[in-house]
Amino acid sequence: FMLYRLQPVMRRLDTDRVNLIGLLGSVEDVMSFLDITERNEICSGDLQFKSLQRGITFESVNFSYNTSERPALQDISFFIPRGKTTAIVGPSGAGKSTVIGLICRFYETEYGEISVDNYPLRKFNLSSWRSRIAIVSQNIYIFNTTVGENIAYGRLDATKSEIIAAAKKASAHEFISQLPEGYDTIVGDRGIRLSGGQKQRIALARAIVREPEILILDEATNALDSLSENFIQEALNSFSQNRTVIVIAHRLSTIKQAEQIIVLQEGKIVEQGNLQYLLKLNGLFAKLYNLQSGSAL
Ligand code: ATP
Repeated sequence: FMLYRLQPVMRRLDTDRVNLIGLLGSVEDVMSFLDITERNEICSGDLQFKSLQRGITFESVNFSYNTSERPALQDISFFIPRGKTTAIVGPSGAGKSTVIGLICRFYETEYGEISVDNYPLRKFNLSSWRSRIAIVSQNIYIFNTTVGENIAYGRLDATKSEIIAAAKKASAHEFISQLPEGYDTIVGDRGIRLSGGQKQRIALARAIVREPEILILDEATNALDSLSENFIQEALNSFSQNRTVIVIAHRLSTIKQAEQIIVLQEGKIVEQGNLQYLLKLNGLFAKLYNLQSGSAL
């Protein structure tokens, strides 16, 4: 069973808890499953995070999971601009999930600094920061309950109309409306089984209903049928207008749409730019791209 890859800390926990963790879309919910000692190591500041004005800056960031090993990230500097889509790509073990883990503050940087709108990230109150981030992970958990409630797990006080609005934005409304009892249809193992693409759209709706300031997507590596892929792409296209989206990207369609692509290899940034630029560069990105005949990285 695939563990929730954004949080290697979680690998120590048992599978059931890991299953539960991947589902909610909120960093805070995810963290509440972690043991207290782990949380207390992360300091929380006084600044209340409300909205992103400029963006997130990594400045010479280094991070090691274990001091005896090669650092997972070495001297990483880049800027994630507000309102744009940034794709992070690279081979397995390159450090993509670690970048996300640092942004969510699962870990502290060793050297270097991450700042948000010119303030060090650690000066912000932890939960005010995390509550404005939504994560769509590779692991999508569908509860044995109604589709509507499955979406509302993103925000328990969401109203019916907010749930429908989120589903529409996630290109899920149409298929949900065609289910026998619409939003009241029971899904999951004991109800109607959803396809992989439908599950992804539910997960996206769950994240959207939170109205996050920052949306983080950990894109699945497994192939979706092209219809589902189109639906998800459409949803992302419209959602990401003027939103800050950070995506660990594998699909070419996602990468194409990103304003910025960061290419990581062995913990370092090796290339950075948009698709045209990176293809012209004819380096690692172009190699990965051509190897996969342009379909996925
Ligand atoms: P993948 O695409 O396979 O998920 P990735 O690019 O997301 O890879 P990371 O998961 O960030 O890469 O891992 C970067 C490096 O840190 C790798 O060498 C990995 O083995 C190591 N690493 C990741 N998590 C841990 C952990 N919890 N403890 C020790 N080392 C870890």
